[in-house]
Amino acid sequence: MNLNTDTTDYRCGFVAIVGRPNVGKSTLMNHLIGQKISITSKKAQTTRHKVTGIYTDNTAQLVFVDTPGYQTYHRNALNDRLNLNVTETVHGVDVIVFVIEALRFTDADRAVLEQMPKQVPVVFVVNKLDKAKDREVLAEFIANAEKEYDFVATEVVSAKHGLRITQLIEMLKPMLPHSEPMYPEDMVTDKSSRFLAMEIVREKLFRYLGEELPYSMNVEVEQFEEDPETGMYSVYIAVLVDRDNQKAIVIGKGGKKKKKISTEARLDMEK
Ligand code: GDP
Ligand code: MG
Repeated sequence: MNLNTDTTDYRCGFVAIVGRPNVGKSTLMNHLIGQKISITSKKAQTTRHKVTGIYTDNTAQLVFVDTPGYQTYHRNALNDRLNLNVTETVHGVDVIVFVIEALRFTDADRAVLEQMPKQVPVVFVVNKLDKAKDREVLAEFIANAEKEYDFVATEVVSAKHGLRITQLIEMLKPMLPHSEPMYPEDMVTDKSSRFLAMEIVREKLFRYLGEELPYSMNVEVEQFEEDPETGMYSVYIAVLVDRDNQKAIVIGKGGKKKKKISTEARLDMEK
């Protein structure tokens, strides 16, 4: 497929999928990014988001970002920090997809809604459509649920059965800013794992080398192989610098910086 991404009509932006546990967020994500087509390679940008999946077609690229999940039952310091992370993530996105189960709107759902930033549009997605056989009951449920928040739009889907996923994507597109695609392809292929591995290393470079230096660097995957017997990956990533004297900065005293960057990157990749 030929992508005409030079036109300013193209849209690209960040989408956060939120909701209490078990409403079907992961299932939905899998279906959203399952419709992969390839796209001509563009240089990746560093973002402050944790990307979990990318949907790309010839009119838009939807970049789904991770939210660690809301913990609303047990309040403690760690959960508060997790929730803070979620709140920070959803602040930086272009649109939020708030997922619930058909015919169930609980206090846990409300607790998630309460944390939504007012300036980001929230799309209401009622999942598990297959469970709501009576369309009148469903319509009434939705009408009541829509009173809970000032949603910009509503869509009914079945993530598990792949129903109305395309409609959801089409609805989200106009909510994204005009922009060229930020990523070369989605993340369900091996190549995408390579890309993710590079992103992780890039993130560590930013963390440990300060803000300016990494911009003059490039990260390249030299080897990315899976051992078919153990399922373990061998990943070799090169950090390319502009000038010789920058090498020492990356490596650090006694190799300390390099070790820290590679160890942390490896731990993230394993996850
Ligand atoms: P998450 O915790 O929000 O990420 O939810 P999951 O994606 O893990 O899904 C929770 C459960 O709901 C799983 O057993 C899914 O198979 C199921 N599920 C997800 N979508 C649907 C759907 O459209 N219909 C039905 N019947 N079950 C679904
Ligand atoms: Mg999940």
